[in-house]
Amino acid sequence: MSSEDFKIAVIGAGPVGLFFALELLKRGIIVDVFEEHSRIGVPKHCAGVVSIGGLNKLCFSDGKYVLNKVRGALIHSPSGKYSLKVARRDFQAYILDREAFDQNLYYEATSRGVRVFLNSFVKDVTKTNRKTWRIAVGKGSTREYDLIVDAEGASLKIARSLGVRVPKDARLPAIQFELKGIQDIDEDFVEVFLGNRWAHGFFAWLVPLCSTEARVGLASYTRPRIMLDYLLHKHPLMRNRVKRAKIKEVNAGLVIVSGPAWRFFGDGYIMVGDAAGHVKPTTGGGIVFGMLGAKVAAEVIQEALKSGDFSRAVLKKYSELWERNYGGEFKAMKMARRIFTRLDDSKLESLIKALSREDFLEVIEKFGDMDFQRSVISRILLSPRFLFSLLKAFLA
Ligand SMILES: Cc1cc2nc3c(=O)[nH]c(=O)nc-3n(C[C@H](O)[C@H](O)[C@H](O)COP(=O)(O)OP(=O)(O)OC[C@H]3O[C@@H](n4cnc5c(N)ncnc54)[C@H](O)[C@@H]3O)c2cc1C
Repeated sequence: MSSEDFKIAVIGAGPVGLFFALELLKRGIIVDVFEEHSRIGVPKHCAGVVSIGGLNKLCFSDGKYVLNKVRGALIHSPSGKYSLKVARRDFQAYILDREAFDQNLYYEATSRGVRVFLNSFVKDVTKTNRKTWRIAVGKGSTREYDLIVDAEGASLKIARSLGVRVPKDARLPAIQFELKGIQDIDEDFVEVFLGNRWAHGFFAWLVPLCSTEARVGLASYTRPRIMLDYLLHKHPLMRNRVKRAKIKEVNAGLVIVSGPAWRFFGDGYIMVGDAAGHVKPTTGGGIVFGMLGAKVAAEVIQEALKSGDFSRAVLKKYSELWERNYGGEFKAMKMARRIFTRLDDSKLESLIKALSREDFLEVIEKFGDMDFQRSVISRILLSPRFLFSLLKAFLA
């Protein structure tokens, strides 16, 4: 059977939905993409930190959407007394203009034949018979498709109408200010502020855009907006630097921290990107793994199109391949997050103090990878010195 005999709808024109559409296009398959907003890439909800290695793997080059490049991170203990400097000589990550990045994907997709419908909110998806989906778009129009690809991001509303059960603590609300007029920014380093008193269950960040501008934000189980004001006014490593800063932009969103804690395929549908939970539980970064997952999904759909069978039994291959490629990475990151969330601020303080020792930094620098974190996580977690520090932190 040819791919023209089947119709595929992608819900959501975020980076992953668009990347997925492009991956299918490479395989000669054209899809329809529905986007609720009138403009691609807005409203923004991202700090834009993406590993250069990850983007290279996905064949992206250093485009106009790169605002800055960083060599590493400064991880501050809750009191601000200890800082872990994880650095490499070469640049490790791009800081993206997410709107420009998403629009670049949009122009590439539409110029090569992908149909992207803007202002097209998908209200509902229902099965008309065993094989066909009816999707309700905007004010009353409906369309029929053989396969639904849910790329709606972290809102997970379509996921719910597909019957997917999302765990309660899978997502954290996040808020971010784009600030200008900040002092003492090291443009080469992202800063991470640990401590439940600053960001309950996650961390706060400062992502440099240039020597005076940065994205400062946090995700938190409780009151993120109030927590961000508190961080800006009270954090010993923040308050004096932002005294004269002005807010240029406010962004908000949801960060998935559970990994893929639900089934991301079913009869006649698959999920990609944030909707599938393909987001690093340690950092909330979802661009690289979302796209890597979308590549796997495109391979499986290409295969399924040969027989025209989009049943759960066939689409299961997506989950199996994903698990084989990335399952171990996510298990390690989930374990690291589980340990991290069990530490109160005094234990975090002791741990950062212990980790700022030379030998740990060497391990992080040698084996650390922004995306594929299993190697460094297992090396640190299994080192007797770390276990001793962890024990000491728990007994402190
Ligand atoms: C504050 C914050 C900071 C972050 N920082 C980083 C970072 O530094 N690095 C990183 O890698 N990741 C980061 N992330 C995560 C990253 O933003 C996501 O992983 C990424 O955007 C996922 O892409 P996506 O295409 O799956 O979803 P999205 O980017 O959310 O795109 C989904 C699209 O679907 C559309 N849509 C939703 N529902 C419907 C519907 N019913 N009908 C039609 N259209 C619909 C939405 O409008 C949207 O355009 C951050 C997230 C947050 C919240």
